[in-house]
Amino acid sequence: MTELPEGPDARFRHHLAEGRFMIQRCEACGRHGFAPRVLCKHCGADRLAWVEASGKGHLYAATTVRQKPEKGGDYLYAMVELAEGVRMISTVVGTAPDALHIGDRLRAEIDDTPRVIFRKEGTA
Ligand SMILES: [Zn+2]
Repeated sequence: MTELPEGPDARFRHHLAEGRFMIQRCEACGRHGFAPRVLCKHCGADRLAWVEASGKGHLYAATTVRQKPEKGGDYLYAMVELAEGVRMISTVVGTAPDALHIGDRLRAEIDDTPRVIFRKEGTA
């Protein structure tokens, strides 16, 4: 698929580069959506507005990816459900994968990539 500079993915990355975690909210049905798209996946409307994500969510599903320490060590391949009701694939940093559990409350941050990553609520 050809990606236009003004396309939803580009907009999402542009926001991230500015340090903002933005998701889309449909002005027709009021539901949030992720990943970025042109049409609402719930009702098909093309009136998707960008809104700041709350950054709150919980661990919905996860798999630990095993890696040697010299390659960065184990990490969590995580599906996170945001408070807005949308799910996204990401990872959780700052806590060992084995110490994380489904349902753990998470908060989003933006790393240097930039991309959205998550940290367990209550950890530094
Ligand atoms: Zn909609």
